[in-house]
Amino acid sequence: LLTVSHLEKSYQKTHILHDISFDLDAGEVLTLLGPSGSGKSTLLRCLNGLEAFQAGTLTFAGEVITQKAKQWQQLRQQIGMVFQSYDLFPNRTVLENILLGPLKVQKRSRETVLPEVEKLLQQVGMRDYRDAYPRQLSGGQKQRIAIVRALALKPRLMLFDEVTASLDPEMVRDVLTIIRQLADTHQMTMLVVTHEMDFAQQISDQVLFLADGRIQEQTPGPQFFKRPQTSRAQNFLASMD
Ligand code: ATP
Ligand code: MG
Repeated sequence: LLTVSHLEKSYQKTHILHDISFDLDAGEVLTLLGPSGSGKSTLLRCLNGLEAFQAGTLTFAGEVITQKAKQWQQLRQQIGMVFQSYDLFPNRTVLENILLGPLKVQKRSRETVLPEVEKLLQQVGMRDYRDAYPRQLSGGQKQRIAIVRALALKPRLMLFDEVTASLDPEMVRDVLTIIRQLADTHQMTMLVVTHEMDFAQQISDQVLFLADGRIQEQTPGPQFFKRPQTSRAQNFLASMD
């Protein structure tokens, strides 16, 4: 579904990502692991056009994506992203937050979208909160709404960047369970950045280990957590225990 080939990314004079290449097949879960500052968030942001990159190509669903604005607009509707901060609009209700993209951006009709959204809200246990405002929700609830909002656009790929990092421990599990269900029940293709190693172990088909802006190894999940190929990754895993 997604092929990244020789991607290079700099901020002004600082080279952040070096020669990033990998494949993500439809239905696969790829986990991006690596130390703080290794470039994980920057890579995700390059993949959905939030950041420009200087060299390399992206191929999504067979189409080569250049930096032309028009393509990115289409692409962003097919690639959903959820961040550490939920950034819901504070003065809109849960339902309004979710409907904004499908109705205003995708120009779909409320009658077709609403039942889908109701179903998604039900799946994440938030059906009773559709008329609530974000300030009335806990962090975990807001994050579940942020996930529904991304899913309502019917993306073919979901990017998750440390979505549980700012949550209290008891809320982490709820959110991780939802992501796991997306993978298991709905075979959603996902690229996940997380510091939750148990979760990463449960969910990863493949692990991409990034350090110093370079891919150090790409290893099938079970193998990575048993024994990574590189000593960098071995040390990283040991430090996460
Ligand atoms: P963490 O695990 O802490 O979230 P990360 O792997 O996501 O780290 P990035 O946020 O991608 O790391 O940052 C990679 C490098 O790029 C860091 O050295 C950071 O300082 C730098 N960087 C990130 N954003 C910018 C920016 N907007 N301008 C300049 N440098 C940036
Ligand atoms: Mg980050």
